[in-house]
Amino acid sequence: MTFATLGLIEPLLRALETLGYQTPTPVQAQAIPAVLGGRDLMAAAQTGTGKTAGFALPLLQSLTMEGPKVASNSVRALILVPTRELAEQVHESVRQYAEHLPLSTYAVYGGVSINPQMMKLRKGIDLLVATPGRLLDLYRQNAVKFGQLQTLVLDEADRMLDLGFSEELKDIYAALPKKRQTLLFSATFSDAIRLLAGQMLNDPLSIEVSPRNVAASTVKQWIVTVDKKRKPELFSHLLRKHRWKQVLVFAKTRNGVDALVERLQGQGVNADGIHGDKPQATRQRALDRFKAGEIQILVATDVAARGLDIEDLPLVVNFDLPIVAEDYVHRIGRTGRAGATGEAISLVCADEVNLLSAIEVLTRQTLKRHDEPDFIPDHRVPETDASGQVVKKPKKPKKPKTSGGGGKRNLGKWVDSGEVAEAPAVKPVRKVPAFNTGPRKRKP
Ligand code: AMP
Repeated sequence: MTFATLGLIEPLLRALETLGYQTPTPVQAQAIPAVLGGRDLMAAAQTGTGKTAGFALPLLQSLTMEGPKVASNSVRALILVPTRELAEQVHESVRQYAEHLPLSTYAVYGGVSINPQMMKLRKGIDLLVATPGRLLDLYRQNAVKFGQLQTLVLDEADRMLDLGFSEELKDIYAALPKKRQTLLFSATFSDAIRLLAGQMLNDPLSIEVSPRNVAASTVKQWIVTVDKKRKPELFSHLLRKHRWKQVLVFAKTRNGVDALVERLQGQGVNADGIHGDKPQATRQRALDRFKAGEIQILVATDVAARGLDIEDLPLVVNFDLPIVAEDYVHRIGRTGRAGATGEAISLVCADEVNLLSAIEVLTRQTLKRHDEPDFIPDHRVPETDASGQVVKKPKKPKKPKTSGGGGKRNLGKWVDSGEVAEAPAVKPVRKVPAFNTGPRKRKP
């Protein structure tokens, strides 16, 4: 199958040739004809599957072939995304695909001045990429109108709900024309997403390109268990030992990002960090420098890293496991993209055993453990597996009562603690609460 057989027009085919896209990915093969045919779409596609081109290519074609010239302050197609970084990235892809088309495109997001965005919107924009909060601000100031809107795309819809954008989405939805095409993309399909889809989509075609919630199979994944306080030391050790060239590292908190960057810089490592406290321009600069290979280690929080697209990134390290198991899938989606192989390593301490278990349940796999001889933790991480069971630490067996004469004669009853740890049927087991696998707001 080729892009030409999917019915794409020549200017798009030319742009794809320049980009070196030869064969449509599975999500593209399914989405492109459906979107060109005017259908609504509900697609379960994680990042790295080529979903952006899956919706952007047919959208650009429809905008070129159909509909009126865009009026001032109007938009004809709207792509909603959860973060500024994703807005920039999607817009960059759209710009490349639209290179030979007579269409205007633009991206708006918060954290930067609104005035230049208002100016730019005056002439009207054919395809606008936007984060929900800033779009609503612009709408309320009459800088953008939706009367001409043909198509709405919700990209990474699960993430938009996770980040608390449901009110904004509701308000935007109320302002849109009822007659329109709607495409919804989400890595996961929680009840909340299904509800949203029920309200926004009309007889949608469902596409599922990889099994639900299963992490990219091209990524080799493993964990190293370690005591919490020794994680920074272990990271530096692994960095030296494996001579890592370029690593994207995820930390849980902004402070965690700053502390690790400071430590690495102190050791002469070329590292930088991105998180929500840093201005957008600083984040973008760090990202650009990382992409250009000028920074070896980029440390990020989940929100800041959302939507990063770095070609051929060989390695992702989870310095901390994510609180929400779905974020693990998003994180490791940064490597092994578009068929390349990648590696994802997680440093796991005993506190994180429930997070580990939730990830294994979600991705339906037991993550391989590699021990680092000098870092065997004092606080052992209990064994976990994809069934969601955590094997409790074996209790130290009680010394059997001896009726005098020493232990040697009580041979059959004595069990050494080492044997208990090795024994296959270590019980009891307990169910891990499912709080990481469901929608964020659900209580454990
Ligand atoms: P996405 O899942 O949309 O974030 O895309 C992941 C990466 O795959 C991006 O770097 C795209 O440029 C690339 N890509 C998308 N479709 C194709 C294709 N058909 N052939 C080669 N690379 C592609």
